[in-house]
Amino acid sequence: MSPPQPIASISQELVRFDTQKLQNPEVNGVEYQQGELFGYEVREYLLEKWNRKCTYCGAENTPLEVEHIVPKSKGGSDRVSNLTLACHKCNQTKGNQDIREFLSGKPSVLNRVLKQAKAPLKDAAAANSTRWALYQRLKETGLPVETGTGGTTKYNRTRLELPKTHWLDAVCVGHSTPENLIVKVLKPLQITAKGHGKRQRCGTDKYGFPVRHAPNAKQFMGFQTGDIVKASVTNGKYAGIHTGRIAIRYRPSFKLNARSMKFDVHPKYLQTLQHTDGYEYAT
Ligand SMILES: [Zn+2]
Repeated sequence: MSPPQPIASISQELVRFDTQKLQNPEVNGVEYQQGELFGYEVREYLLEKWNRKCTYCGAENTPLEVEHIVPKSKGGSDRVSNLTLACHKCNQTKGNQDIREFLSGKPSVLNRVLKQAKAPLKDAAAANSTRWALYQRLKETGLPVETGTGGTTKYNRTRLELPKTHWLDAVCVGHSTPENLIVKVLKPLQITAKGHGKRQRCGTDKYGFPVRHAPNAKQFMGFQTGDIVKASVTNGKYAGIHTGRIAIRYRPSFKLNARSMKFDVHPKYLQTLQHTDGYEYAT
């Protein structure tokens, strides 16, 4: 395996779908409009807009098909405002009918669908303010930052025939995703934000009575809650080598959350491997 390389550039999934491209597919050229990638963007958008349900019967967790509200044979367009999602059964039943015909017996459903179809695209910028904030911070690193959409990620993952996992999704973010990808030799580092613990000093029961108190200091004998430690326990039930995170609870012993078990351990057995920084690392 090759040694770890310094980070040269960053790919971030900024938004689920590209509202600009969906509203103005013309500016992106025929290749994009008729391409598969556009299909993935449209699908992500429709899933969000129609709440991942069949528009007509409300069925969930079933394969959904892209469906024209006004059929093409009756002059309906391919614009996203004329598209919705329907289960296979509803799609078949509706067939070539106009929506007014198909839902003539269900005026309330008809009204809802027509209203929802006309509703403007959600403002992606407002909906994903956290991701935009992250984007600004990533740019401050000075590294080149590329952004992609959820639609592009899915398109790349499908194209490369990769299973759906968090890290393979991460590999597929953005247009820089190569044509061919050899992932067998990669060992991804997964980083999860864990925070720095609660500020609450006192736990309460459901009536508001205090039931437990947090220690006054999170730091004790050079250790801190969240530190990753190696415990070399010489005797007793837990004799052996354990690694895990500690929580400072019952001084002078700490709670050690090792992979296989949780137990109290005295700090004299502990060696710090990594001080807590609010993140969890795993390979
Ligand atoms: Zn249906």
